[in-house]
Amino acid sequence: MSEPVLAVRGLMKRFGGVVAVDDVTFHLAAGEMLALIGPNGAGKSTCFNCIGGQLKADGGSVRLSGRRIDRLPPRRIWRLGVGRTFQVAATFASMTVAENVQVALLSRARRLGDLVTRANRFQRGRTTDLLARVGIPDLADRPCGLLAYGDVKRAELAVALANDPKLLLMDEPTAGMAPGERAKLMALARQLAHEQGIAVLFTEHDVDIVFDHADRVAVMDQGALIADGPPGRVRNDARVREVYLGG
Ligand code: ADP
Ligand code: MG
Repeated sequence: MSEPVLAVRGLMKRFGGVVAVDDVTFHLAAGEMLALIGPNGAGKSTCFNCIGGQLKADGGSVRLSGRRIDRLPPRRIWRLGVGRTFQVAATFASMTVAENVQVALLSRARRLGDLVTRANRFQRGRTTDLLARVGIPDLADRPCGLLAYGDVKRAELAVALANDPKLLLMDEPTAGMAPGERAKLMALARQLAHEQGIAVLFTEHDVDIVFDHADRVAVMDQGALIADGPPGRVRNDARVREVYLGG
């Protein structure tokens, strides 16, 4: 088997007396779409934050294509190719959609010369291309603060893609979206995984969306990973049904 894009091993995170993430181990391959599900408070967001570097784990390791990233600051992790969207969309409201994407593109430049050339030529085309990929080609010049919520989520996805991620972390990407929009966004994420080889890790409360879109499903309960496998098998797992799917 080739090296996984993401390898989480024995991950631990405590908040005071609460063990939010308890010895969690899983892998994710390029082009694979993995859903991390479980009841509220199971530890899903804490896992995401330990992978993205927003939180420091208390134990275990996180590797991106073999390289340890669990001691790195979020900016370094982002630069190494971990893109993410947040439960509450994180874009600059007063800036246009295109400007938000351009900030992300510019932040990848390593030298001043790059900034100049990228700003002038490369950037415009890249931005247009990214907005087309997420399905909002006509919204480039609209301030993010004035967009419908579903379009903000798409803009946020374009910002994440500007970083050319190997791994995309999406924590409840469809929260607050209308049902029809939700399936569309997940179909788009799935397309990015399968056509561009991006490893996608997402959380989602709507189990129908999960089982329709994920290649694999992992289930957490009270900090621990209690199942990890193909959607059909996980859906019929007795323990998963007991703690999450309701019998
Ligand atoms: P999920 O995303 O699965 O709903 P979380 O990762 O947000 O779960 O939370 C897991 C557990 O950790 C919960 O018991 C929650 O109350 C606790 N927790 C999460 N973040 C913090 C924090 N910053 N400080 C203290 N406790 C936290
Ligand atoms: Mg959460």
